[in-house]
Amino acid sequence: MNKTRGLLFVVSAPSGAGKTSLCRAITDSLEGLTHSISYATRKPRPGETDGRDYYFVSPERFQEMIKAGDFAEWAEVHSNLYGTSRRVLDDMIAKGIDVILDIDTQGAKQIKSKYDTAVFIFIMPPSLDILEERLRNRKSDHEDEIRKRMRRAREEIRDYALYDYIVVNRDFDRALAELRSIVMAERCRTRLADTQWIEKLI
Ligand code: 5GP
Repeated sequence: MNKTRGLLFVVSAPSGAGKTSLCRAITDSLEGLTHSISYATRKPRPGETDGRDYYFVSPERFQEMIKAGDFAEWAEVHSNLYGTSRRVLDDMIAKGIDVILDIDTQGAKQIKSKYDTAVFIFIMPPSLDILEERLRNRKSDHEDEIRKRMRRAREEIRDYALYDYIVVNRDFDRALAELRSIVMAERCRTRLADTQWIEKLI
């Protein structure tokens, strides 16, 4: 394979669908695939680390970054601001590293208008009841936060048709296998192949 530029994968899902764990597991299990670390204005949850889960910044700093054009995309989600660094993303792609963006549907729409070869994957919970149960089991969010996230989940699901692939996370291992298959298939696209080598054979 003669791939010079990295592929861009955009993964969205309602919060609680298991997207973060799936994105972490896939980058751990596939070489050459990196998860882009977003900037966020929300407070870290217990166990989260600055620079690993997010770059946690103040709302003021985030606004400065918007003004400076630092973001490839950004959006307000659950009253917090989240964004992807344009420079980091473009550098990784230029280096030939495949990148996975774990972002909401508003951000995905912005990426779609700017990166025409990006691959869009939507992770669905098996049902809204199961999604709510998972959010409650997480125990890190309050009741009104859970209600807000459930309302937002329905809004996000409405955008499913923008995505190239849908993975239903009923069973984690199966969803991970499907996600891996998508990445592996996209890496085998004819447009990415070393056609000079093939042409020499014929
Ligand atoms: P959480 O606060 O639960 O970590 O994330 C809330 C939502 O924000 C998730 O849907 C997540 O995908 C989304 N998100 C995280 N980083 C970004 C980002 O850089 N841009 C956008 N648009 N959404 C993001």
